[in-house]
Amino acid sequence: MLRMSASPPPVVVLGAGLTGLAAAYHLRTPCLLAERESIVGGHARSRRRQGHTFDVTGHWLHLRDPRTRRLLADISPADAWVEVERRTSIFAHGARVPYPFQANLHGLPLEVVRECLVEFIAAREAAAVGAQGSPRTFAEFAEARFGRGIARHFFVPYNRKLWGAAFDRLDASWVDRYVPTPSVSQVVGGALGLPQEGLGYNARFLYPRAGGIDALPRGLSAAIEARAPGTIRRGCAAEEVDVRGRRVKLSGQADWQPYSALISTLPLPELVARIADVPAEVREAAAALRWIGWRYLDLASKRPAPADYHWVYVPSPALPFFRVGVYSNAVASMAPRGASSLYVELSDRAGPVDLAAIAEGLVEVGALAERGDIAFTDLREIEYAYVVFDDDHGPATALLHRWLASVGVRSCGRYGAWIYNSMEDSMIQGIEAAAWATTWSTAQAQGAGR
Ligand SMILES: Cc1cc2nc3c(=O)[nH]c(=O)nc-3n(C[C@H](O)[C@H](O)[C@H](O)COP(=O)(O)OP(=O)(O)OC[C@H]3O[C@@H](n4cnc5c(N)ncnc54)[C@H](O)[C@@H]3O)c2cc1C
Repeated sequence: MLRMSASPPPVVVLGAGLTGLAAAYHLRTPCLLAERESIVGGHARSRRRQGHTFDVTGHWLHLRDPRTRRLLADISPADAWVEVERRTSIFAHGARVPYPFQANLHGLPLEVVRECLVEFIAAREAAAVGAQGSPRTFAEFAEARFGRGIARHFFVPYNRKLWGAAFDRLDASWVDRYVPTPSVSQVVGGALGLPQEGLGYNARFLYPRAGGIDALPRGLSAAIEARAPGTIRRGCAAEEVDVRGRRVKLSGQADWQPYSALISTLPLPELVARIADVPAEVREAAAALRWIGWRYLDLASKRPAPADYHWVYVPSPALPFFRVGVYSNAVASMAPRGASSLYVELSDRAGPVDLAAIAEGLVEVGALAERGDIAFTDLREIEYAYVVFDDDHGPATALLHRWLASVGVRSCGRYGAWIYNSMEDSMIQGIEAAAWATTWSTAQAQGAGR
């Protein structure tokens, strides 16, 4: 009698943010992508209201890797994206200076410029004679790299607002890539008012011409479903994971779903909480992970913003927000003609929102011409915004990933890997997870056949 061999179970991918979508797109074996929400995209989604489009605050795409450039070209028409030269400011001491602060001191009060320059040179001298220890905290890093003045007038107050109570826990490990380090000549030139162009990792970015970063996840999901309909299950949450039995319990499904390999993009502590029989040290490591969320406003204005920046950093503790962006200054289609769409990232994480104070502050930083320009605001929340890089972060994530790998689970993406990822980084992790899953499933199948 001829015996039919059962086809192997699919690779299961949990979460259809950019990481999960990029993984599913690159898998060439059967796959099931389970997304808790009714729409895909995760943090890279967009909302639309009365002709205004809003992302989950600024989501500007920077691509450096040929794999992600190819991916974008594969899933979207050639003219679907525009390349935009970044215009970013810092609002400090009543003045607006270009980003980055440390290379653009001109325009600040002279006393502030002097303090920043003198302390910057002192920090450089200390570094030259080896008089600086290695910085442990983020605040020590800022002082050692840029001097006490630049730390005091920008890095420390800005990051205190962004990180809230977690600021004092931050170590120095995560900043190097994202904080541009200008030369002495750039700092001095910037203090004299000489233009300092293109410093930093994100001098240009890509954005969908038709508006809304969700064009990216929508393009990916359409391409996945065109190839294999039914691969994406929306409104389908991972409830439990049985790593020994290689199966996952999905909401709305009576039976456990078997998998040949599991890729998870859930926040790492949420994944661990869903796995039964986790060793005590793994549970403790998950409990040591810290993160921050914050609140922000989607804000529609009846008029264009007076300032032309795409976003502005606001270190002053007197103003109730730390960053404000004007989507429609980057891509006009984000707002109806003659209007503008903004995001306002709030320093307070709880309690009532003082809209009058926010409107006044927005006028001060040049984001609104008048308080009465506001057409509507919607208060939104980001539960997982940034993971906290503290002393526990390195050892805890290393232990967790080691254990997960040993039981055949790849936890990746910004919150799955528990790191500071851009959209590009996340898609690359998805691509790499797809390659891992193919190798892992093949090895398991060969092992079972032996
Ligand atoms: C405020 C902010 C601003 C940012 N700005 C930029 C920027 O300008 N440029 C840039 O490149 N990057 C930016 N990023 C980073 C970017 O958003 C992320 O790198 C990327 O979106 C992460 O994708 P992900 O798929 O790893 O995670 P997510 O987007 O979080 O996707 C995870 C998915 O898992 C789903 N999920 C959760 N629980 C379950 C469950 N139990 N079962 C099934 N599904 C579940 C979620 O609904 C979500 O769809 C920003 C991030 C934040 C927070």
